[in-house]
Amino acid sequence: MMKIALPNKGRLSEEVRELFNDAGLEVRVRGERALTASLGGEFEAIFVRAQDIPEFVADGAAHAGVTGWDLVNEAGRELDLLMDLEFGRCRLVVAAREESGITSADGVKDGMRVASCFPRLTQEFFTKRGQQVVVVPVSGAAEIAPHLGIADIVVDLTSTGSTLKMNGLREVGTVLESSARLVACKRNDSEAVHRLDELKQALGSVLAARGKRYLMANVPRRALPQVREVIPGLNGPTVVDIMNGGDYVAVHAVVPAKTIYRTINALKAVGCEGILVTRIERLMP
Ligand code: AMP
Repeated sequence: MMKIALPNKGRLSEEVRELFNDAGLEVRVRGERALTASLGGEFEAIFVRAQDIPEFVADGAAHAGVTGWDLVNEAGRELDLLMDLEFGRCRLVVAAREESGITSADGVKDGMRVASCFPRLTQEFFTKRGQQVVVVPVSGAAEIAPHLGIADIVVDLTSTGSTLKMNGLREVGTVLESSARLVACKRNDSEAVHRLDELKQALGSVLAARGKRYLMANVPRRALPQVREVIPGLNGPTVVDIMNGGDYVAVHAVVPAKTIYRTINALKAVGCEGILVTRIERLMP
């Protein structure tokens, strides 16, 4: 059995499950508080705290795991990075009180106290810059530390910046950019490496499909050159005859989801009809 460590709760857990489900590895939990679940086939999920996943995987208790890049770096364990899963994006930033007068990381003075749930990364960041700060490790809610007089500065995760702002803090530097990653144990045997490569392809095909749409349209033959410019597709659009279609042919193509609105308008403008757009479940170029 291939064991994959997944976050049991918190921000990443939902999206991880959704991704695995979409990849055909349906998370079949046996009850609310189950510690493990079958993912179908040879994969089994073990649910642990996101923070503990780097340790679990590095120690070989799981062959691979999904957790935040911030947590992987904080753990400082040797792991193989297999892929960026592109969700759970956030940044680990240095923040100071609005009224502190500090506007960049250079403004942090020697001897200042820095509260963080990421003491290792915080220490490393300031040491590398030649700044001697006192790191105050906390296990949560670092943003309130300056208000309690526990620290002058915080190093905390942010995605929109609204929590920092709400707490009267200003972002003054970036320690690390993070997102959810699939990581693997360095001691996996070749069979496990092979299985994980298949997993990586399955997850990758779902991620690739999310940003794309499948588009079909009936196109007047004379408009084909213009249509080719509008939808280059994966390998150029597929053009097929329509039975009794007269001047019309059918065009199928994979197009970026982001620009679908513009694409449809451009197709209509050159006389396309019967335009149909659908989601793609998996895409393996
Ligand atoms: P949680 O289990 O909710 O503490 O969060 C686990 C992970 O979610 C963090 O370590 C980050 O990798 C990720 N994350 C994504 N966005 C944010 C955010 N805005 N604040 C904190 N963590 C975030």
